[in-house]
Amino acid sequence: MDLSPAHNQSLEDLDRENIFHPFTLPSEHMAHGPKIMVKGQGVRLTDNHGTVYLDGLAGLWCVNAGYGRQEIVDAIAKQAALLPYYHSFASMGTEPGVYTADTVRRMVPGNMARVLFGCSGSDANDTQVKLAWYYNNLKGRPQKKKIIARDRAYHGVTVASGSLTGLPTVHKAFDLPLPQVVRVRCPHFYREAEAGESEEAFADRLAAELEATIEAEGADTIAAFIAEPVMGAGGVIVPPKGYFEKVQKILKANDILFIADEVICGFGRLGTPFGSDYFGIVPDMISVAKGITSGYQPLSAVIVCEEVWSTILESSDYLGTFGHGYTYTNHPIACAAANANIELMEREKLFDNAATAGAHFHAALHSRLGDHPAVGEIRGVGLMGAVELVADRATKRSFEPAAGIAKKVQADALARGLILRPMMNDSLAFSPPLCLTTTEADEIVDILAASIEANMGAMKDAGAN
Ligand code: PMP
Repeated sequence: MDLSPAHNQSLEDLDRENIFHPFTLPSEHMAHGPKIMVKGQGVRLTDNHGTVYLDGLAGLWCVNAGYGRQEIVDAIAKQAALLPYYHSFASMGTEPGVYTADTVRRMVPGNMARVLFGCSGSDANDTQVKLAWYYNNLKGRPQKKKIIARDRAYHGVTVASGSLTGLPTVHKAFDLPLPQVVRVRCPHFYREAEAGESEEAFADRLAAELEATIEAEGADTIAAFIAEPVMGAGGVIVPPKGYFEKVQKILKANDILFIADEVICGFGRLGTPFGSDYFGIVPDMISVAKGITSGYQPLSAVIVCEEVWSTILESSDYLGTFGHGYTYTNHPIACAAANANIELMEREKLFDNAATAGAHFHAALHSRLGDHPAVGEIRGVGLMGAVELVADRATKRSFEPAAGIAKKVQADALARGLILRPMMNDSLAFSPPLCLTTTEADEIVDILAASIEANMGAMKDAGAN
């Protein structure tokens, strides 16, 4: 059998014939093929034809330190040569993970006790569900198992984390969500607030709805509430002022765990170390991934508070071994990458840069597009944001999804050398590397504005005023 690569075929054709692409329309992929990136430096990527792009999304919201960071590359190579793998089952361990866990546990908000590593945001949130169930079984409350998650949330795609996700694409034809998930409203002021309602009143209404849901389900049946500080894939949704403060009070009163999904917001995205820091959240459990290694290696972590950890510790005598974890839990190369990455971001003050470059970026977006007839809302915090396009600004009327307006703007921006992400309600999301300069921020705004302008005709055809 000849297993040498079929070099007589283009990379694009080989991809089309072999790769099963995630979150891709299969028929469209077969027709148009992939775009293949071959190198990156700073905020820029180069494809296999030599075209350069500004990566306005930092991969998938994850390359926080930027591409081509030699310190991280060297740490990976050094660890791979020294010890590429060993596991952490049955009290075994490796060196890098000990340091990652110690750093991360001390960095995160709250009284956190232990760190359990995985490989992806999805597996971290899957672990969170299992831990919430496990904890309540140990507490002698076997009926306290439901998890409250929000509409438009993104928590992953595994059976449990995909159930927490509140986006139809992740459920459709997959027999999801699991029945243990209880859904509450998305805290999007622009779309969900009633006419004349203030931000504060909207937050009060969301809190009242949460309280009513808990009462209807029975607090003794609910284990946890999970939330991204700023929702990512659901459209970059920043909650109304006071929202998390009110939510936390209700959860405390009902003995419900708060799981902060910091997979995007963690490690500086909002200009603070964690999204919980920005909103004053004190979570009981935290999920991190993406920015922990800036995507240089797959790594996630679940961080649990003292109460959850001590309950599990006390169970040793009667329950025995803690029966969860992965072959790659505590992976030494991934943890070495994390250590170098966190050190680099700290040294270069990239979290602070996310705050200052982010403020510049939002100001530029507002000054350039704030009054634009096609722009309904500009939202975001730090270096995470979105611009929502509308057919009618006054009534907030959206375009028909079939018109694919955000997708058209995204394709135009791509042709001009900028990667953005189209999302539901014709929003275009950005989440660039945290090393973004103000000049690069201006470049993103210039291209986005030009791409919106270039699509005004398409928007008219799709019913824009
Ligand atoms: N949680 C959040 C907030 C995310 O944004 C994502 C991924 N976009 C996940 C979880 C799932 O992470 P992964 O794709 O690594 O499984």
